[in-house]
Amino acid sequence: MEKKTLKDIDFTNKKALIRVDFNVPLDGIKITDDNRIKESLPTINYVLNNGGSVILMSHLGRPDGKFIDELSMRPVASRLKELTGKDIILANDVVGEDAKNKASALRPGEILLIENLRFDAREEENNEEFARLLAKLGDVYVNDAFGTAHRKHASTYGVAKFLPSAVGFLIQKELDIIVGTINNPVRPFVGILGGAKISEKIMIIDKLLDTCDTLILGGGMSYTFQKAMGYKIGKSLFDESKLEDVKVMLKKAEEKGVQLLLPEDYVIAKGIFDASSIKFSKDANIEEGYMGVDIGKKTIDKFVSVIKQAKTIIWNGPVGVFETPEFAVGTYEVAKAVASIDGTTILGGGDSGAAVINMGLGDKITHISTGGGASLKLFEGKELPGVEAIQNK
Ligand code: AMP
Repeated sequence: MEKKTLKDIDFTNKKALIRVDFNVPLDGIKITDDNRIKESLPTINYVLNNGGSVILMSHLGRPDGKFIDELSMRPVASRLKELTGKDIILANDVVGEDAKNKASALRPGEILLIENLRFDAREEENNEEFARLLAKLGDVYVNDAFGTAHRKHASTYGVAKFLPSAVGFLIQKELDIIVGTINNPVRPFVGILGGAKISEKIMIIDKLLDTCDTLILGGGMSYTFQKAMGYKIGKSLFDESKLEDVKVMLKKAEEKGVQLLLPEDYVIAKGIFDASSIKFSKDANIEEGYMGVDIGKKTIDKFVSVIKQAKTIIWNGPVGVFETPEFAVGTYEVAKAVASIDGTTILGGGDSGAAVINMGLGDKITHISTGGGASLKLFEGKELPGVEAIQNK
């Protein structure tokens, strides 16, 4: 069902209550990466340029329902002022007297930022009364916080019930590119999954086996597959509780005719930070006392050659313990190959996205999602609660 977007709303003389993702990394009170603030600007500017005023709300860190001065939105207000060139009115509470008074006095063209939503425990409980109090601040609700759209909180979900609503430009962009590409890929379509937690990836594997031509699996989660196929995995990561699911996935790949590529050799070590014990396995068997920490040379060549032929790629999760430089080669070679193709490349938020940006390859990727958990949900083919709650067109 198509959801209302900003273009479906007349903002003239309206107060737009906008849920943004200003959960920025802080070093003390210094913002170390303001990308999330920048990503919210198109939506804010659209409302202001169309005769409305803006009431911004976000969480910052994990104050767990208590007022914590170090997690105040003050540094965000300062940075937002620099980025917009406009004064930011800051309320010193969330839905208290100050927020109410400042919201009711707000005039078209002005920006109000209320305090950290998670200073109030009712936010994460999706408390109905709290959602109603938030809704009273504005006339229209806009959700543009992609990073929290997979959560059912008062500001991302409950509030939508009380106001006309729309998704903002950031959420719209994420949905268009991720959902649009998965549902309608130019082929060959290659999925790449890595990372540590197989439990979080089974549903994605299941979905991708319905749509991909080739699925590449690496990283810590690949050993549960190798074990299911009878290889020796030493002390590599292994999730016994997912062994049966993995067997079902192996069978599904065969039935669907999807090429499932698993590592054929590994870089191994005695621990994930123990670079001094580095060795190489000659096949997918890993010796006792060692664990797989990266994909080996043969595997890199195989993965790279398949990636280079792809026209569409989605990727989530590093293929090795990339935080240890000696074990980052596989992830780096995969990233270089993904960045080199002439096609659509999409990275989920989180580790692999950060790795590719650190490698200086970020601008060669079509889309690096701004939301870790939310992008995984979309890769699973699920709807996000923060989108579901918005009015249909
Ligand atoms: P995830 O959050 O599930 O995407 O996992 C990301 C983490 O997986 C990173 O911190 C990697 O270091 C880790 N990882 C990747 N490959 C391995 C491996 N072979 N053994 C242990 N951890 C791994």
